[in-house]
Amino acid sequence: MARCSRKVNLEIHHKRRDGGNGLENAEVLCEKCHINTSTYGVKGTTPPAFSPKVKLEALKRAGNRCECTRVTCGH
Ligand SMILES: [Zn+2]
Ligand SMILES: [Zn+2]
Repeated sequence: MARCSRKVNLEIHHKRRDGGNGLENAEVLCEKCHINTSTYGVKGTTPPAFSPKVKLEALKRAGNRCECTRVTCGH
């Protein structure tokens, strides 16, 4: 399964809407992969925003690259 390697327009995605705003619920995704997630733009519960600290930690953990390995994206 190929990992997306884009490094631009990175956003922090909530893995689970009810999973809170901690690092364990954060996934670094580029804009294209973010839009491709099943919950993107779907109305419903808005998860709490990530703090700048968690965003930085998530980007560091991901090596400043998109973390997406979803096959549906076709990277
Ligand atoms: Zn991506
Ligand atoms: Zn993707």
